[in-house]
Amino acid sequence: MAKFDYNKILQWLAYILKCPVCGQKYNADQTKVIDSGEDKPVNSRSLLVHTDCERCKSSVVFSIAIDGPEIFSIGMVTDLTSQDTSKFKNREPITSDEVLATHEFLRTFDGDFKSALRK
Ligand SMILES: [Zn+2]
Repeated sequence: MAKFDYNKILQWLAYILKCPVCGQKYNADQTKVIDSGEDKPVNSRSLLVHTDCERCKSSVVFSIAIDGPEIFSIGMVTDLTSQDTSKFKNREPITSDEVLATHEFLRTFDGDFKSALRK
């Protein structure tokens, strides 16, 4: 089985990926692999990579799918830090019922977080 060289991939990512907000090229030091997809076969992996832009300070999460010789990447601007991304990556999506419940809660919320969080 071929070895997956993360350093090479990170260098390549830092070389090709640019900040979608300001166009700055990413620095490999600010690029972290959150999920390496190690449980999948080497020629059909997907990686989750988090980067911080040193110029405009925005963060982007890239989902990178490797399918044999083809590599696809989707970037999404985020306010999550790399720690947040690790924390939330396997969480279930928020349901529409949860959104409605939050809306109902906020409709009558008086702004007192201290007592709301104590409940
Ligand atoms: Zn930027």
